[in-house]
Amino acid sequence: MTATVTHPISTTSNPAPATDERRAQVLGEPRFGTHFTDHMFMAEWSVGDGWQDPRVVPYGPLSIDPASSVLHYAQEIFEGLKAYAHPDGSIHAFRPYANAARMRRSAARLALPAVPDELFVGAVDALVRADAGWVPTDGEASLYLRPFMFATEAFFGVRAARRATFAVIASPAGPYFPGGVAPVEVWLSSEYARAGSGGTGAAKSGSNYAASLLPQAQAAAHGCDQVVFLDDVERRWVEEIGAMNLYFVFADGSIVTPELSGSILDGITRDSLKTIATAMGHEVVERRVDIDEWRDGVRDGRIAEVFACGTAAVVTPVGRLKWADGDVVHDAGVADCGRATVTRALRDELVGIQYGHAADPYGWMHQI
Ligand code: PMP
Repeated sequence: MTATVTHPISTTSNPAPATDERRAQVLGEPRFGTHFTDHMFMAEWSVGDGWQDPRVVPYGPLSIDPASSVLHYAQEIFEGLKAYAHPDGSIHAFRPYANAARMRRSAARLALPAVPDELFVGAVDALVRADAGWVPTDGEASLYLRPFMFATEAFFGVRAARRATFAVIASPAGPYFPGGVAPVEVWLSSEYARAGSGGTGAAKSGSNYAASLLPQAQAAAHGCDQVVFLDDVERRWVEEIGAMNLYFVFADGSIVTPELSGSILDGITRDSLKTIATAMGHEVVERRVDIDEWRDGVRDGRIAEVFACGTAAVVTPVGRLKWADGDVVHDAGVADCGRATVTRALRDELVGIQYGHAADPYGWMHQI
């Protein structure tokens, strides 16, 4: 599929941006994904013409044909990354080229066109520049960026659409845990898998998230924050939780994360923590983790800590694993998260790099 970009990105300022009072109010208590900034990025693609008219325009509703294939066959993908204000006032996105690469992998699986790096990162940069006043500067808050692409061809045939739209919107995101990092309780779904072998689990496609909503609601009905998914074949291997990858810290200091199975999303936080943990002297192993190893390991002390990781919540200790007729409480997660756990050390190092309080030896921060 063609990957040409025909024009530089243009910007049309919003003639009626949020008032200073309104912006201050939102930034004063940002929640996750409920308020959106003054602008958005848009570009359209078609077979033959490639990417056209990349532009930043005032944020507002989209008008699409009711026959657009995204509305019928869910041909859609998205990304999630954050921009952070550093103490010197500069703004940086975390590893946007990794998101661009993942979006291309998702696009290939969903038969959507590739977005070249220059368009993906250029769109992020242009939108953040237009909405720089929306990047929170206090505490552990950031501007969450949501690139997404959807098929717009008006056609009922089941085949790859010949038209698509790529857009980026932004939303100020407060600390995921306003009261401090709190352990999550997770529910083991025995009935549902999130993704199947040979399916789209490794792609960041909206349909995977639609499939996770019912099991997520069941988790909530059992008093849990998130749902744990196992593989769909043997129903035995731990994959990931709702929208986060998992790590197990063993008592011997080694750290294990489920190996990418084809149905697990290749998280950028997961990948970054692998690098950070290795630099801290931990042996990091990617391998399959049996659900019984998790349960028994926590009970007998072989597993000291379990945590989940992802862009939104960064690093989150797991405090309890529940299933239909039992549970296991994780001491390290339930204990005061201020104490010196490996989870805490990894989180502090990653957050330090993101917010510019620690050196960035890996070149992860992209100044906008
Ligand atoms: N797994 C799933 C299913 C997710 O949606 C996410 C969030 N993108 C993650 C893992 C974590 O990925 P990342 O660290 O890139 O946010």
